[in-house]
Amino acid sequence: MCNCAKTVEESAKEKIRAQLPEGSQDFSVELQGYAWLLGSSVSMKNKLNLHIEYEVPKKKGGFTRKKQDMSMVGNYCMFCGEKYPEAA
Ligand SMILES: [Zn+2]
Repeated sequence: MCNCAKTVEESAKEKIRAQLPEGSQDFSVELQGYAWLLGSSVSMKNKLNLHIEYEVPKKKGGFTRKKQDMSMVGNYCMFCGEKYPEAA
């Protein structure tokens, strides 16, 4: 499996670090939108959030609004296009 997430994060970190105002401190960069998956080894896959909202009828009338989030994990690396291995 490719190593794009790590490579892209490190390269972005270096570029951004070079542009920080002098004296800046406690600098961190984190590429988000990845799911950590535990299979035969740990892998990182592109992840999109699916946000769901709906109204459920109450017994006494009216509605209650429900919100829910789900993760949609991609099958291909968004940087190099390599197909991710099937989950073990
Ligand atoms: Zn890749």
